[in-house]
Amino acid sequence: MRISDKQIELVNGRIEALLKADNFYGKKLKEAGVSNISSAEEFEALPFSEKADLRDAYPLGLMTAPEEEIVRIHSSSGTTGKPVIIPYTAKDVDDWAEMFKRCYEIAGITNKDRIQITPGYGLWTAGIGFQAGAEKLGAMVVPMGPGNTEKQLQMMQDMKSTVICATSSYALLLSEEIGKRGIRDKVKLKKGVIGSERWSDKMRKTISDNLGISLYDIYGLTEIYGPGIGINCDENTGMHYFDDYLYIEIIDPVTLEVLPDGQWGEIVITTLVKEGAPLIRYRTHDLSRIMPGECPCGRSYPRLDTIQGRTDDMMKIHGVNVFPSQIEEILQRFPEVSSEYQIRISHLDHKDTMRLYVETNGSVDFMGLAQRIAREVKHTIGFTPLVKVVEEGLLPRSEKKTKRVIDERFD
Ligand code: ZN
Repeated sequence: MRISDKQIELVNGRIEALLKADNFYGKKLKEAGVSNISSAEEFEALPFSEKADLRDAYPLGLMTAPEEEIVRIHSSSGTTGKPVIIPYTAKDVDDWAEMFKRCYEIAGITNKDRIQITPGYGLWTAGIGFQAGAEKLGAMVVPMGPGNTEKQLQMMQDMKSTVICATSSYALLLSEEIGKRGIRDKVKLKKGVIGSERWSDKMRKTISDNLGISLYDIYGLTEIYGPGIGINCDENTGMHYFDDYLYIEIIDPVTLEVLPDGQWGEIVITTLVKEGAPLIRYRTHDLSRIMPGECPCGRSYPRLDTIQGRTDDMMKIHGVNVFPSQIEEILQRFPEVSSEYQIRISHLDHKDTMRLYVETNGSVDFMGLAQRIAREVKHTIGFTPLVKVVEEGLLPRSEKKTKRVIDERFD
């Protein structure tokens, strides 16, 4: 879907603000001699923005609106080096809540629902984003924040929460705990809004079966407001996103060329109306594609397919490019393994080795299963991993993002 005239007009407004603020992107524009654009071709010739640019702008170099209009900052995690600080104006905060409200509505959530929020609050965009959208919708918020599973389950029963907002790993943990305690009848959940990490169909099915609820994938990243910029509808054919706030392109992460709808590549986002820290052609490193055609639900918002991982998650093993999603797809062919797995890459005896840990229950022949999985990986991707089968429940589950790929070659 190419950029529309209306969207080009909005981009020109952002270009003007960025030039005026003279921040990193304003400087890029000046260098390129661009003060406005008038066509899709000119838009596609604009320079990209990168996470590194945002880090270099630490602490407040991204601020594009006047200081007196900034009402809040959020920060994205900095596992290595400096974090990224994103300033928001009152309009940005309101726009984000409006998008999030639309997400809840697309998921069929109403002002009669009680929404239990387990993502974290504070510098993170997660908790407060879920909350602001829910309040705009008029629903009752149960603002728990992360952790304290005991209390989560108590409040879930006492408040009769109907919606749970969580990461997929925490939703899995909660669903397992509810099963173990035999309290499923006392839990009134109907829907789960699951954000912030890629998860398999198997995990989705486990959570949904354990709890008997429908699940919705919510998309977003701190650099672009936060979670709540897209969600799947009941047709489950990708996540609708809001093209009056965002323009999304898919590019080839190597050649950087823009790809047509339907082709897989890296998500690149332009914010059309953001004031505090507008971003133009921001490379997310998330892998997806724009779904071609219209959604059967009849909504005209365009759709992104489920995120397939990160361009930086790509592993090179024996010269073959491998994505965790490929391994996951293979594991789904084995009904006897759980949704949890872990990949460890190491360099042994001068060659790269992948160890793949999977879980199953005690009734299965561990050795035989390991051999069958190894053969399937060899057959599908072209190399043989060392497969280790462990008892169900032994692999780590976490309240935040579960780390599934551990590359020991660079430790
Ligand atoms: Zn739809």
